[in-house]
Amino acid sequence: MNIILLGPPGAGKGTQARRLVEEKGMEQLSTGDMLREARTSGTEMGEKVAAVMDAGQLVTDEIVIGLIEEKIKTGNPAGYIFDGFPRTLPQADALAELLSRNGAQLEAVIEIAVDDEALVDRISGRFTCGDCGEVYHDTTKPTQQEGVCDHCAGVNLKRRADDNADSLRTRLMEYYKKTSPLLGYYYANGDLKSVDGLQNIDVVAKEIEAALS
Ligand code: AMP
Repeated sequence: MNIILLGPPGAGKGTQARRLVEEKGMEQLSTGDMLREARTSGTEMGEKVAAVMDAGQLVTDEIVIGLIEEKIKTGNPAGYIFDGFPRTLPQADALAELLSRNGAQLEAVIEIAVDDEALVDRISGRFTCGDCGEVYHDTTKPTQQEGVCDHCAGVNLKRRADDNADSLRTRLMEYYKKTSPLLGYYYANGDLKSVDGLQNIDVVAKEIEAALS
């Protein structure tokens, strides 16, 4: 099963993708994570995208489509969760083409809907474990022991460089200008299902499960 999790920054796409990985053995393909990894590995591409990401703008379609193409070549029997991809109409067209070239198809697009005010709060309190990727929040999901990841016991907790008020404003603008038209695109295709992302994490997960069954 191949699905897209669609929603603004801070909607909870990464958190829900990780649940699906654990429960269904699907593979999470987060272009944000791939780009962050490219940055730290010091590749030419990583250097090129760093300033764009910090400013909250979108990296070129060519770069992100190339990253996804590389990943899905290998195939995964349980399917993929596309998290943060596609973000533009050309990326959506490219994904359809790449899947069909690999004899696969898209089963569902899940919109995780959250209003803007909640996003600002979620993003400004967000931090993640640099070792296992678990996502936390200062007030709604703190670690049990300060500075230590509940999931893997790592001590590499960090905040993203682009999780600040200025960058968030740009990221939201980019979302509304370039990504939100995908909701209409997938609705017209008959693939779109929407869940209320303001509910607690377990309830959202249950609704996603129901939407997929
Ligand atoms: P994310 O972790 O999904 O919030 O992505 C972090 C940043 O990576 C975004 O603000 C963009 O700069 C870049 N990025 C991630 N995915 C894409 C994409 N599909 N298209 C363009 N830029 C992306």
